[in-house]
Amino acid sequence: MPAHKPPETGLGVDVGGTRIRIARISREGEILSRIIEPVQASRDEFPAQLLRLIEQMRGPEDAAIGVGIPGRVLGQTGEIVSAGYLDIAGFDLVGLVSRKTGLPVRIENDAMMALIAELNCRSKFRDKLVMMVTVGTGVGGAALQDGRPWYGGGHAGQFGHIVVADDGPRCNCGRTGCVETLSSGTALRRLILQTELPEETRTEDLFSLAEKSDAVAQAVLRAWSQPMQRALETLVSVADPDLILVGGGLGRDMVQALNTLETRSPWFPVPFEAASLGDDAGVIGAGLHALAHKDGRLAETA
Ligand SMILES: [Zn+2]
Repeated sequence: MPAHKPPETGLGVDVGGTRIRIARISREGEILSRIIEPVQASRDEFPAQLLRLIEQMRGPEDAAIGVGIPGRVLGQTGEIVSAGYLDIAGFDLVGLVSRKTGLPVRIENDAMMALIAELNCRSKFRDKLVMMVTVGTGVGGAALQDGRPWYGGGHAGQFGHIVVADDGPRCNCGRTGCVETLSSGTALRRLILQTELPEETRTEDLFSLAEKSDAVAQAVLRAWSQPMQRALETLVSVADPDLILVGGGLGRDMVQALNTLETRSPWFPVPFEAASLGDDAGVIGAGLHALAHKDGRLAETA
């Protein structure tokens, strides 16, 4: 009798602002085991940490590896163009990890991995155009068309750099007024510090004050969410997605704030909702995407 072979699983890695997560993911998108630790961001330490974690976690059933990183990744090749606070731009991470492990490796922007996981829970959107905007330290983005990453010419999905104000703050990209500079977590912190509100004011404090008609809290929430509303309307005017998920650490708060804004034009109704998987989305999507890549299901975009 042939020995029972366990079903194949994918190893998903998600590199966040402060922590790196690695998890074994089933084909259904369940987390079977995981390790979370502080991320080491330097060019020498990060690859070594990644390889050590893969070694620690790897089991015989793991058939592929997916890694989601912040920054700009050329989707088709996994080339890292810039990686935010991670000092690995230009580093051949796909080559390194596949050489060391002998497994197929797929690297994507972290928002893309999170979106893949979210779509896995929303089967009715599998043959649609679905976008994601992540709100955390910065603002990230990704799009899937018919369940496949939509890269455009290679770098599509930089939704944090939709310009929404001519006179806005200077952005890392060199321009001014990108939505990332006005609707990120960093921007919310700056808005709070510009008021008389206590420095430690949290989003739930703002919402509860705003509910009691506190004009300052209402103004902060409006100043934070209105630029995002404009950016989402722009996405609708350009690509008319069937769904825009708002995720990242502040995704739910952003949705709550957006829901208080009046629609500015009937031309661009935004079909947005909060992402539902929270911090787990990145590793789940990375594991699922790695398995899809290994199966050849991404062949048309690879
Ligand atoms: Zn920018």
